[in-house]
Amino acid sequence: MIEVLRLGYRLVRDARTSTHLALVARAFGADAIWFTELEPEVERSLAKVGTKWGGAFKVREVENWRGLLEKWKNGGGAVVHLTMYGLPVDSVLESIRSRAVDLLIVVGSSKIPREVFKLSDHNVAIGHQPHSEVAALAVFLDRWLAGEGLKRQFPDYIVRVSPSERGQVIEEF
Ligand code: SAM
Repeated sequence: MIEVLRLGYRLVRDARTSTHLALVARAFGADAIWFTELEPEVERSLAKVGTKWGGAFKVREVENWRGLLEKWKNGGGAVVHLTMYGLPVDSVLESIRSRAVDLLIVVGSSKIPREVFKLSDHNVAIGHQPHSEVAALAVFLDRWLAGEGLKRQFPDYIVRVSPSERGQVIEEF
């Protein structure tokens, strides 16, 4: 089980980044994403994607995110916070694997509360330059699942891509 928690929200509307984060979580192998502020249009977009492209990915809102972290830790899962200040991803993957199978991956938006560094089991950097929660999540999931996340099947789809060298080929069911 892999879930993602996106903390905070930018003051300017940021539904596009939130939608991209949720799409990346779904496409790269997570089972659910939690937002501390869930925009209705993000929920709607992901519901549409799920109906059309399949799968059981969940989009949820959580007010008490500290309680969510505790629940994960008490349930035997690990809480992994993605931050440029953390330890390099390649140096910590094995130690995370040795203690947990289930992960809650925490990403920020603009400013992350300091306590997240303490509450998390692992603070993990995807390089030490500032970039984006979307990129950090994609790289982390791909490393954690060793490429298998991208091969995951999405049951109950209406359409799916038929891979082709050129063009856009879709099969409809
Ligand atoms: N300076 C901000 C900070 O306090 O980390 C950067 C915020 S960045 C726009 C939003 C989120 O992207 C961060 O909270 C973190 O989860 C993720 N992120 C950005 N760069 C990262 C990196 N190099 N490694 C891991 N996560 C990163």
